[in-house]
Amino acid sequence: MSDTTSYQLFINGRWRAGGSGATLPVINPATEMVFASVASATIPDLDETLASAERSRKAWSSRPAKDRGEILVAAAQILGAKVEAAAKDLSAEQGKTIAEATGEYARAVETLEWNGTHAEELSAPIPMGPNRMIVPEPLGVVAAFTPWNYPAVLIARKLAPALAAGCPVILKGAEETPSAAVHIVEALRQAGIPDGVVNLVFGVPVQISRHLLSSPIVKVLTFTGSTEVGKQLAKLAANNLQRCILELGGHSPVIVCADADLAKAIPAISEYKFECAGQSCNAPSRILVARTLYEEFLSRMTEVARKIKIGPPDDPATEMGPMANARRIEAMQRLVKDAVDRGATIETGGTRLQPGFYWPPTILTGVPKDARVLHDEPFGPVLTVAPFDTIEEAIEEANATEYGLAAYFFTGAADAKQALIRGLSAGALSVNYLKGVSADAPYGGVKQSGYGYEGGEQGVRSFQNLKLVNGLGS
Ligand code: NAD
Repeated sequence: MSDTTSYQLFINGRWRAGGSGATLPVINPATEMVFASVASATIPDLDETLASAERSRKAWSSRPAKDRGEILVAAAQILGAKVEAAAKDLSAEQGKTIAEATGEYARAVETLEWNGTHAEELSAPIPMGPNRMIVPEPLGVVAAFTPWNYPAVLIARKLAPALAAGCPVILKGAEETPSAAVHIVEALRQAGIPDGVVNLVFGVPVQISRHLLSSPIVKVLTFTGSTEVGKQLAKLAANNLQRCILELGGHSPVIVCADADLAKAIPAISEYKFECAGQSCNAPSRILVARTLYEEFLSRMTEVARKIKIGPPDDPATEMGPMANARRIEAMQRLVKDAVDRGATIETGGTRLQPGFYWPPTILTGVPKDARVLHDEPFGPVLTVAPFDTIEEAIEEANATEYGLAAYFFTGAADAKQALIRGLSAGALSVNYLKGVSADAPYGGVKQSGYGYEGGEQGVRSFQNLKLVNGLGS
């Protein structure tokens, strides 16, 4: 593997620099200083990954699924043994606290393990009565593009099911947070992944995606990132009809009903909203509160937000670290200014803290419906809070964005639960708690949040052709 400050490409089973020797800087968001570099792939490097992935395809797809699974389980163990060091690297380059980085790695390990354990069962033929069956077959080489917010677990959620299904992968890690990709790929190498089955590149994202998707070798595109980039990639994939799994943005509502237990709701909202400085695709961003609870909720939520300890991510006392990059700070400034210019009130936060890319927990109220913050994914520690009078009104408001990734609500009332489950447009709901992504369950968005699923059985099926065989008894 590369040393810790100069991350390399992994092509055809070998760690190496890019063909031109060019590198990109890696910045510590707590200090704004460059502290590492990452190799940048050239077009010939990309051609080499395509050729090596294609060469490895037949042997990997025809290898018993049990063997493939065992490599994933072994990689999970290897990665699990180095979580402490890997979490430090992730925290330094992403800005999340060590505790958050450690938790993320635990989920990455669990994801490798889950897919490894289920590889055999999910590759087996599926009987359909006496005369028919479905034969799952790997689709072929996968291009996987992953972002900087959860670089460990999001890589695991793409790599593990693709490999379990029998597909080689060309992974483009996030240039801003390369260490997670390097640690995970190195764990797979040590676990015995054959040359070419996993390749890792970094570089100029638009150049890499354009080149890889223009190749008929690539059969599947899987991407996590913004809706805008997702659409560009889907257009490129259309030329070769590559299957797309797109996990895009979100703007998740939380509905706090009149009977909600605020002692439960407020810590749950605070914990998930401010994890990773709000840079989670399914973080809550719009809180709708029953009018009878509104004043109490707002004052208690504001109090909790004000008390969050912001600081360097490697300080154990820190509860929220910096944002990942300067672009997020600019986005927070833009969204808050726009809301305030239109008449919104800042209850807490609202101004950058320096040095470092720090933005404090920010709560906005009285936000007019046309403010950008109610429509653009905030992707940061900014929340809006507004009252509602009826469940129908709350549902309408909750659905009033182009996104449909996650939605949350707090109530014990059975009729309200049923109305909310039926009425909310989202890929996933959580009742009386937040979060909800796990290795064993499908997760995906509707509307502009994307399509396709990651996680669970569906996550593996995303990389398979379900070949239907008729007339078996004939
Ligand atoms: P971005 O859309 O430019 O980049 C997001 C990720 O996609 C990055 O890792 C980037 O390297 C990659 N990317 C960008 N262009 C690409 C291309 N042409 N081909 C392949 N990969 C490409 O935006 P950003 O400034 O990094 O983040 C801004 C927005 O992205 C956020 O506001 C948020 O909406 C979204 N985002 C979402 C997630 C998520 O988990 N769904 C993660 C990161 C970013």
